[in-house]
Amino acid sequence: MLPSFSIVRPASLAEALAQLADGDARLHGGGTDLLGCLHDGVFATPKVVSLSRIQELRGIARSSDGGLRIGSLATISELIASGDVAERYRALHQAAQVVASPQLRNQGTVAGNLCQKPRCWYYRGEFHCLRKGGDHCFAHDGENQYHCIFGGDKCYIVHPSDTAPALAALGAVCRVSGPSQTRSVPVDALHMRPSQDPHRETVLEPDEILTEVVLPPPAAGTRSSYRKVRPRASWNFALAGVALALRFDGPVVAEARVFLSGAAPVPWRAAGVEQAITGRTLDAATIAAAADAAVAGAEPLAKNGYKLPLFRGLVTDELEKLAAGA
Ligand SMILES: Cc1cc2nc3c(=O)[nH]c(=O)nc-3n(C[C@H](O)[C@H](O)[C@H](O)COP(=O)(O)OP(=O)(O)OC[C@H]3O[C@@H](n4cnc5c(N)ncnc54)[C@H](O)[C@@H]3O)c2cc1C
Repeated sequence: MLPSFSIVRPASLAEALAQLADGDARLHGGGTDLLGCLHDGVFATPKVVSLSRIQELRGIARSSDGGLRIGSLATISELIASGDVAERYRALHQAAQVVASPQLRNQGTVAGNLCQKPRCWYYRGEFHCLRKGGDHCFAHDGENQYHCIFGGDKCYIVHPSDTAPALAALGAVCRVSGPSQTRSVPVDALHMRPSQDPHRETVLEPDEILTEVVLPPPAAGTRSSYRKVRPRASWNFALAGVALALRFDGPVVAEARVFLSGAAPVPWRAAGVEQAITGRTLDAATIAAAADAAVAGAEPLAKNGYKLPLFRGLVTDELEKLAAGA
């Protein structure tokens, strides 16, 4: 059963920010994650601030520099339907298509997808784990088949969003409004590692609102993709995934941004893959080196070593496709 809380529906960003001033309210985009967390007692709140009436947070439109402005209330289905996303930001289009189910994509928003809580079954269950204020990560010595192989430190969740690694690869930036200022946060700096603070997933303060996500215009020669492997094809979170945005100069990779999903508590930058392919043509030896680099330094837990060959295979497949111009 849902616990009691009040719900307010401000009609403007200024009103919404004022509603957050007392510190312990929670934002509601589409509510597909928030209401599940409240229902399951993952956390509680006296007040939910619904953003649904704020028109300025809606819409997807080209920006004056040729990039794309995605309102934080744009739904995942709206991303999929956008011709601009489909034609110019293929990694994001592919990522949006594998988020959850059609119903959840119709309701879930871009900001909610970026800010959703982790899916760890200990965190979501009746365990007073480290992330919920306890002193222990139960996954480390427990059922850790869906947990991280990089960056665990003391909490071994994986970041759940599919759009986050794609947006990070594409160089997207979040615009964030707070009570006294507006700031920009690159998507690749939005999420927090457990070593920084095991109780927070993002750098956003409780009185801040993510208002839009801005994509730069794609540079000439850019090819991008997102692919994930999941336990079942109908809907599920990534066991392993990879988002790539490569800028080609002829057959040579001039610039690369590569992020893994299902790997770490944050979208995980695969710097070794980027180094292995930058300045090179994607021949078989280069791709093999990149696949090895994707898992170099990984620290699999007792039950998730299977992720290593998955990541190797995904990186190999996607590089082969991008090299072929697909
Ligand atoms: C069964 C199921 C399967 C799923 N499968 C996938 C999947 O495969 N891939 C995937 O990526 N996701 C998946 N999800 C997650 C789903 O995509 C997200 O729940 C959805 O995108 C979240 O959007 P929302 O608007 O409903 O978020 P909400 O539930 O409204 O919010 C989620 C979080 O973000 C915060 N928030 C919302 N808007 C803002 C804002 N503007 N500024 C700051 N904070 C904000 C909220 O306070 C809350 O903490 C799944 C969810 C379910 C229930």
